[in-house]
Amino acid sequence: MPQKTSETPMMQQYQAIKDQYPDAFLFYRIGDFYELFNDDAIKGSQLLELTLTARNKSADDPIPMCGVPHHAVQSYIDVLIDHGYKVAICEQMEDPKKAVGMVKREVIQLVTPGTTMDVKAGEAKSNNYLAAVVPDKGQYGFSYADLSTGELKVATLTSKFTLQNELGALGSKEVVVPEDLAEDDAKLLGGGRLLSKQPASQPTAEASYVSQDLADPLAKATAVMLMQYLLATQKRSLAHIQKAVFYQPANYLEMDQDARTNLDILKNSRTGRKGDTLLAILDATKTAMGGRLLKQWLERPLLDLGHITARQDQVQTLLNHFFERSELQDRLTKVYDLERLAGRVAYGNVNGRDLIQLQTSLDQVPALQDILAKLDDGSFKDLRAELDPVADVAGLIRRAVEPEPPISITDGGVIMRGYNAQLDQYRDAMQNSKQWIADLEASEREATGIHNLRIRYNKVFGYYIEVTNSNLAKVPTDRYERKQTLTNAERFITPALKEKETLILEAEEKSTALEYDLFQEIREQVKLQIGRLQKLAAQLASLDVLQSFAVVAEAEHYVRPVMHAGSHTVTIHGGRHPVVEHVLGAQQYIPNDVIMGDDTDMLLITGPNMSGKSTYMRQLALIVIMAQAGSFVPADDAQLPVFDQIFTRIGAADDLAAGQSTFMVEMMEANAALAHATASSLVLFDEIGRGTATYDGMALAQAIIEYLHDHVHAKTLFSTHYHELTALSDSLPKLRNVHVGAVEQNGTLVFLHKMLPGPADKSYGIHVAKLAGLPADLLSRADTILTHLESSSVDKAAPVPETKEAEAQLSLFEPEPVRPKNDPVIKKLTAFDLLAATPMDAMNLIYDLQKHLKKK
Ligand code: ATP
Repeated sequence: MPQKTSETPMMQQYQAIKDQYPDAFLFYRIGDFYELFNDDAIKGSQLLELTLTARNKSADDPIPMCGVPHHAVQSYIDVLIDHGYKVAICEQMEDPKKAVGMVKREVIQLVTPGTTMDVKAGEAKSNNYLAAVVPDKGQYGFSYADLSTGELKVATLTSKFTLQNELGALGSKEVVVPEDLAEDDAKLLGGGRLLSKQPASQPTAEASYVSQDLADPLAKATAVMLMQYLLATQKRSLAHIQKAVFYQPANYLEMDQDARTNLDILKNSRTGRKGDTLLAILDATKTAMGGRLLKQWLERPLLDLGHITARQDQVQTLLNHFFERSELQDRLTKVYDLERLAGRVAYGNVNGRDLIQLQTSLDQVPALQDILAKLDDGSFKDLRAELDPVADVAGLIRRAVEPEPPISITDGGVIMRGYNAQLDQYRDAMQNSKQWIADLEASEREATGIHNLRIRYNKVFGYYIEVTNSNLAKVPTDRYERKQTLTNAERFITPALKEKETLILEAEEKSTALEYDLFQEIREQVKLQIGRLQKLAAQLASLDVLQSFAVVAEAEHYVRPVMHAGSHTVTIHGGRHPVVEHVLGAQQYIPNDVIMGDDTDMLLITGPNMSGKSTYMRQLALIVIMAQAGSFVPADDAQLPVFDQIFTRIGAADDLAAGQSTFMVEMMEANAALAHATASSLVLFDEIGRGTATYDGMALAQAIIEYLHDHVHAKTLFSTHYHELTALSDSLPKLRNVHVGAVEQNGTLVFLHKMLPGPADKSYGIHVAKLAGLPADLLSRADTILTHLESSSVDKAAPVPETKEAEAQLSLFEPEPVRPKNDPVIKKLTAFDLLAATPMDAMNLIYDLQKHLKKK
């Protein structure tokens, strides 16, 4: 009976390996191809658009199969990683020609979404963070690493809320979790992220090393788990992963995911354009490292006044020194991605060109130190003193590596002459022999009188003498040995020529092998200095962000905000929204003040739609974020406290994917603020309560305002369409009304985009509808209904008159009943939802109302 396909030795080997990686696509190397089998092949052929074939097609049990050529494998891996899958790369570990029996194969790397090192075009300024979470009695050990840069951070988080914020801030695609993760936690952490389970194991030396400075056991366990996962997937030493740094989210300005999205800090959720973000406006960085650090600074603005002021001082210094700043930029432009270069050194996949990039980058450092010395104030003194040009590494590369080396490190031509005596000898030998051959060509031409006699080389025959047919007669008998006959020429050799050829080939072989060894040695020496390179990278990155802040501050006319501790007052004159201003142009943008002294915790903003309420709110938040990141801000002048958190509820961000309605999302965002905000927080609520029935919404809005005012005391901007709420300024002493100015000109509405004191005199919805081009009849009917509603705000049962005339008649005979709108009895009655109430509810209500009236 024929052997089943699945029982062939190769398929058994395949299956044994596949069993170890059940959740990954196994790319199984056979010769020049990586093959996928069974379900991997079926799914892979669809995702990768490959032809699905079968192994042993004619057998009873053909096995589905598809393959990709080895030289193009990276692009196929990228596609699967982008889809959120893992790929196990299985190589042949011995030369198939020399193997006895089955070729030995092993998985050499497991590529996963969180560990891919492939930096796509245009993404050099982004990190790819792999996160790890260990839940423990209501707390969460939290750690993250970027494998390409070696950054490793760890924290202990005390709530789900902060955990979600941290994960949101990092944008991780993959989270490493313990094997016994509870169902609930899996739900919390999942949501579009790949969860990778890492079994508990004895920490390896490298995992112990990176976590050795951590005191907190939970933090330590998490960092170890993350490192173990990295080692298990990468299957090599990871010398560039830095010692884990412990951080506390509470040491940075905290923003929940909604705030980040609503404020368009790194992404613009509405336009989708990269340019319409705070990041894009502030990014004048010259290096990829600087670009990544700027992102991190905007994700984590500071809380420490001293640190904020130190950054501001440095920006100010750079702003004051135009020429030095330009020189600095020129130098930074020549600095390559040191962080990722260091990572590749550790990985052992740098080539000659990478080392030259490293050297070029290091060569900029002495010049940068000189420039910093010229900035004659103290703000850069420490940095200048600490900058280490890693001159030993730069010197080594300069001596050892050709300035323009080839991409390959196995074909020679990488190491400089003069670096290694043995190598020079081989090269001399080659050189001399080649010269000897050139001389031979000349002397043979002379001796034979054949002017076009040539000595050539090809891989099959080595060196040979070539004579065209027309000159063959001139070749003396027995002078050469005939080797090959072509149609128009003969090829010959001589023993002496072959002797030289052997010398040349031997020298060539030895020299390329030696070059490869030397290159490895150099790489190992550089690897020993990775820590210094990483430190330098971090320093240059921060210098880059600071110069970027200075450049943007100058170009966009930003000012240095004055930050104060101990008071929560906000004074901004002529503030602007950095992104909207950029889009509209500085002339078009109307600056606005934000004045919130000790007597004002809340601004209640009214005004027409599209007049600029949301822009005004976002503008304040962005100014706060910029200030606490160390940047200057778009304003004439600004005095700000240090805020601890920002909460937003802006716009209708339906989370349909999570099955939540707009109103539910709205309430959840509001709740996050009410639960977590402090007197040092900033809260932005845009039209809370709009997603439900008018009275429901208004009641909720008022209750939220009162709660914030009485219990939270956070600085709050609250915009609303409910004009009724503006009366709250009578009862809430720290609430002020402001409104956006608008004027009617010839029946149309002109927005002034200017914030003015006091409430708006009316809502302009119908005017906006007119601007939007709704039919005239419809608008006139809306006007009628509005007038009626306004005149009978309590008597909802009265029918809306059919026409303006009917309404006029009605008002003649039925004068409007005079009822105090703010009477709590009226309010309660109005808000009572009779249809949803039980008889008992109704009884209770009447009892309450009576009690209230009797008290009066
Ligand atoms: P809605 O109530 O419909 O949400 P809104 O009052 O919140 O509207 P915004 O979305 O803030 O209005 O602003 C609408 C548009 O007005 C902006 O896209 C911008 O083009 C313009 N705008 C806002 N503020 C200003 C300003 N200060 N100067 C110039 N134009 C502005």
